[in-house]
Amino acid sequence: LTIQHFPPPPPLMPPLSRNVAVIGAGSAGIVSARELHRKGHKVTVFEKRNQLGGTWVYTPEIEPDPIGINPGRKIIHSSLYSSLRTNLPREVMGFRDYPFVSTRKPGRDDRRFPGHVEVLEYLREFSCEFGVDGLVRFGTEVCHVGRDDDGKWLVKSRTRGDDDEEVFDAVVVCNGHYTEPRIADIPGIHSWPGKQIHSHNYRSPEAFQGQVVVLIGSANSADDISREISNVAKEVHIASRSVDNGFVQKISSHDNLWLRSMIKSVHDDGAVTFEDGGTIYADVILYCTGYKYHFPFLDTNEIVTVDDNRVGPLYKHVFPPMLAPWLSFVGLPWKVIPFPLCELQSKWIASVLSGQVSLPSADDMMADVEAFYSSMEASSVPKRYTHNMSDYQFDYDDWLAEQCGCSLTEEWRKEMYSLTSKRKRAQPETYRDKWDDEEWLSLAQQDFIKYLS
Ligand code: FAD
Repeated sequence: LTIQHFPPPPPLMPPLSRNVAVIGAGSAGIVSARELHRKGHKVTVFEKRNQLGGTWVYTPEIEPDPIGINPGRKIIHSSLYSSLRTNLPREVMGFRDYPFVSTRKPGRDDRRFPGHVEVLEYLREFSCEFGVDGLVRFGTEVCHVGRDDDGKWLVKSRTRGDDDEEVFDAVVVCNGHYTEPRIADIPGIHSWPGKQIHSHNYRSPEAFQGQVVVLIGSANSADDISREISNVAKEVHIASRSVDNGFVQKISSHDNLWLRSMIKSVHDDGAVTFEDGGTIYADVILYCTGYKYHFPFLDTNEIVTVDDNRVGPLYKHVFPPMLAPWLSFVGLPWKVIPFPLCELQSKWIASVLSGQVSLPSADDMMADVEAFYSSMEASSVPKRYTHNMSDYQFDYDDWLAEQCGCSLTEEWRKEMYSLTSKRKRAQPETYRDKWDDEEWLSLAQQDFIKYLS
């Protein structure tokens, strides 16, 4: 999948100031607020929790329904586990113009792959530095967003039981997409007697003491959680779609950790049968099977839908052609470096809303979306991978940068990202503490000087 490069069209009108609602004060929401504010828009950020940081606000609390299928359940936003350290080096992960460097202050976590508390501190500092805190309405949940008769957006919100309604020119959706669990469909699961839990509700390994666990998935959380659980569990079997049928591999660094193919079926005596032909008796199935995009508050009259995890139609994953630029989404892409990508998406939205950068016509944007969907289909890429940018995130970032007249992605960031991915595969246990990318690290540090002085 390739991105077509062309220079941004010239500005059509002088900068305009809009009244903009941003939904969510996670990393996407706070950088959107900063960019919109910088361009002179009037910004209100709605945040249902009492602090900013979104995913990075760890809580030990879990949901009462461990696989998250009951729509009426109490929702816990963050999916972080207690031991979580970043899966990217801090230099790569940080915003482009606000480097995520060690502070060397007492009590702070100076590691290159720090724990989650350090990321939250960084986001707080960012917010404070750019005056974003003052734009956020904390403890305010957006319950409904729909268009009024004038084509403006009516935002209904609730703050500690009080309802409110306001009208905005534009809405930027930044509500995150790691809260609503996706569950694998397993033949026989309804009569399988064991426990089931989604990684959204995993916090620490103690509950798995002495248990036989089948963990489904192969992404970052699956890697971390399987290894952590194997320290206390009797056996951990990782069922992964990326493993060939008939293949069972013991993971050499552990005596009780196995990599297997997908589950074929489960049975009422507790048996779990794998595509590789093997059967085990398990106590728990732990789904590390990802999340669904979910916008329970958004009413676009079906102009924007979520179909098999495709949010669409969206021009370049941001603007619905029929509602652009008055509705936009920040942070939908995955298998990416989220903070700098959200920063560029936000710059683009802020520039378009101020009239400094123009969009193609609705028909041309729609044609672009259709062409993208057709190219996915032609390459047999499933619909649910619509926002998976593993193959082209830097092309996408650079396309956005060109639109806004910003510098392209730094060479060191690309190289460090690629080396980290390789190291993660080669040394999954130690990739966060042993590295060999000093050359790129020193280039990054030189680059940061201009932002730190
Ligand atoms: P969120 O952080 O989820 O923020 C959304 C915000 O919207 C929340 O504050 C929420 O309360 C608010 N909200 C939602 N609905 C409403 C509503 N109706 N009204 C008002 N407010 C609302 N990224 C990395 O760069 N490095 C990592 O190492 C990394 N590790 C990760 C590990 C895990 C387990 C997970 C789940 C994600 C990880 N990520 C990592 C990705 C991470 O999610 C992104 O970095 C980023 O934090 C997402 O930000 P966001 O603003 O899009 O969403």
